[in-house]
Amino acid sequence: MLAVDIHAVDHCNFTCRLCTHFSPGREPQYHDAEEYIENIKRLHNWHGVKSVAIVGGEPLLHPKIWEFIDVIRNSGSWKIRLFTNGFWAESHPEWMGRLREAVDDIWVSVHPQLKMDTELRNVFESANCVLDTVGNALWQPLLFSEEPKIVKSTCDYYPSKACQIVDGKLYICCICANAREEKVSRAFWKKREEHAFDIANGNAAGLADWLIKGAMPEVCDYCWIPEAPRFHQA
Ligand code: SF4
Ligand code: SF4
Repeated sequence: MLAVDIHAVDHCNFTCRLCTHFSPGREPQYHDAEEYIENIKRLHNWHGVKSVAIVGGEPLLHPKIWEFIDVIRNSGSWKIRLFTNGFWAESHPEWMGRLREAVDDIWVSVHPQLKMDTELRNVFESANCVLDTVGNALWQPLLFSEEPKIVKSTCDYYPSKACQIVDGKLYICCICANAREEKVSRAFWKKREEHAFDIANGNAAGLADWLIKGAMPEVCDYCWIPEAPRFHQA
């Protein structure tokens, strides 16, 4: 069973230096839920999809986010997660109840740009949001080498193996999925393209093979995070 991430938007209203989705500086880009449905269903038929995470950028910047969530939710039996930076909790408190009804899990990434005080923490906790705090690694740059540094057998950053769909292709992690050519090494860029799984032209056997190889492919050898961020529940 796969966990699949999809972008509702690419951009964000925060500017975290270590943004694994490369969102700071991106032009606003609003996606339609429909662009993902057929590909999610294909993946589900081939391997099973246990959860779809709606991520960004900041998904709640999408002016039609509620319709977006409905389309994804009504298209299959997968759990729906939404990842947000929580910027809206004070300006739009009514969104919490609406979100609670619309998705199974709400993950709030607690970045320094969110002024998290006790009152705000209570708002999230009483709505059973998962609070993800990000340590100092938030302020470290992502690095990508031109030569393999080491042959990796594990990824400290992305142990959950959620794959992300971008432009009809499946990538092993959000860093691969959202890399921008000017921000990563040529070697990483080339490998990520070679390694992407083309869903429209794929099949069940091809996906199974990709997932076995994809556990820690060669592309990871060029991905060099100086100190893996430690995500943990507050
Ligand atoms: S809040 Fe999240 S998506 Fe937005 S810039 Fe920070 S890390 Fe990226
Ligand atoms: S490219 Fe590989 S090593 Fe880098 S974050 Fe993704 S899964 Fe981990």
